[in-house]
Amino acid sequence: MKKLKAYYNIIQGSQLTLNPRVSVLRHNGGIYLFDPITRTCASLNDAMLAFITKPNNVASLKKPFCKDLNGLMDVTKHLCELGILIAPEDAEHNVSHCMPNNSDSMMNLAIFVTTKCNLRCTYCYARGGDTEKTISKDILRLAMDHFFSTINSSTTHEKERRKTINLSIHGGGEPTVEFAILKDIVEDFCRRARAMDLKPTVGMGTNGTYDDSIHHWIIENNINVNVSLDGPHKIQNRLRPFLSGKPSYEVVIHNLQSLVKEGRRVTIRATITDEAMETMEETVELASQLGIAAVHFEPLALAGRSTSSALSRPDAEQFAETFLKCFLQGLKLDVDVYYSGMRCFEHIQQRFCSACGQNFCVTPDGNITTCFEVLESNDPAASAFFIGKVDHIQGRVVLDQMRIDKLNQRIAENMEACKGCFLRYQCAGDCPVKSFRHSNRDLYSPDHYRCHIAKRINKQLIAWLADGVIETRDVEQTRVIALNHNII
Ligand code: SF4
Ligand code: SF4
Repeated sequence: MKKLKAYYNIIQGSQLTLNPRVSVLRHNGGIYLFDPITRTCASLNDAMLAFITKPNNVASLKKPFCKDLNGLMDVTKHLCELGILIAPEDAEHNVSHCMPNNSDSMMNLAIFVTTKCNLRCTYCYARGGDTEKTISKDILRLAMDHFFSTINSSTTHEKERRKTINLSIHGGGEPTVEFAILKDIVEDFCRRARAMDLKPTVGMGTNGTYDDSIHHWIIENNINVNVSLDGPHKIQNRLRPFLSGKPSYEVVIHNLQSLVKEGRRVTIRATITDEAMETMEETVELASQLGIAAVHFEPLALAGRSTSSALSRPDAEQFAETFLKCFLQGLKLDVDVYYSGMRCFEHIQQRFCSACGQNFCVTPDGNITTCFEVLESNDPAASAFFIGKVDHIQGRVVLDQMRIDKLNQRIAENMEACKGCFLRYQCAGDCPVKSFRHSNRDLYSPDHYRCHIAKRINKQLIAWLADGVIETRDVEQTRVIALNHNII
């Protein structure tokens, strides 16, 4: 009613204004509007831009400026309904009340099974295989006891909200090389979850080189796997060889095909180095041929082995350009092409990811980290992301609440560097560990490299949506409205 009242106000000659939460973007000669809350995208001409930024300018409502007064009133009504045009007193500088109700205490459980690895990827962020540490039964038991006790002591409302519970099995090594332990972890987790009337789901990141018995276990236990494959054989074999130096491409492809044959929706994750960038389109083509549903591209993270190799991150602009080409190619081939900073289709959120205090990830040493990329205590980022430890002597998990609180504070409103950015409430400052590593250990200064990619990709997607080049992914949630049709 309040929104419609704003519309009637304009009819009666009262004030209207553009909601400050809405951004006007200029891109490739076009003008676009983007509202993060309703995820409305629209393209505008100069006259319409003048109208929506100063809707009370009576001159624009008169001929010859306004070609279609009724059309303009309809558009104004629609913009008021969406909350894009508002009464000045309703201006929303802070949209946190629209954020999903994520409780800080509801943590996600992740287990890093082992640092052992059968591959020697040239860029491995965790230097997988350089050490041979596997999580012990004691650490596992104490960590699981703690995790499930926090679920048990959560409020009834949270319990009701949480009908399912997820375990992520992570790298730092290849989890399937410790298959017996991996099976025990999954069994224990599922048993404990069911005992609490929660539906367990299990996801696992893997290098995809496992044997057939593990494939059957994955299928029987409905494990959601995310397989790393960097692209066609020349790239995969160069960047991700076995410890012996042998190529890994064939075995990974065999396992991907087996998953597809079982009717699984398969995603591959491709790490893109400077050199691999030219094969990105080939990778989407390969995914289509294999029946793979999604390709997740990420530029190389400069951590671990990549810092002592000759590899480099792709140029940010070129990566964004190539990604966008792959995105369009994916639409034609029915392959979902994704990048972690591609956020304009998503609901607004306080945080970029759960590394901002919500994850509970257990390393083989018994450290509790919130970031999947920070496992070792000699990593400088451990000072920000290690939030506790399994204490053998006391037989319990000890958490550093001050560190958790600090991570929890990394929310969109607190990101000074992101104020005024059109993507602020979807991107929320981008990846916190990349901020830490690339911005002088400051969690609140985004990694400029990734920030550039995010802005470039999302701006283009908004423009494509508004211009009708691509269709909205979620008709219910992302709107494209016509503002350019000979109205003004
Ligand atoms: S990236 Fe994964 S598969 Fe490759 S060496 Fe590291 S842990 Fe092993
Ligand atoms: S990191 Fe960059 S793209 Fe993301 S919200 Fe901040 S300024 Fe915007």
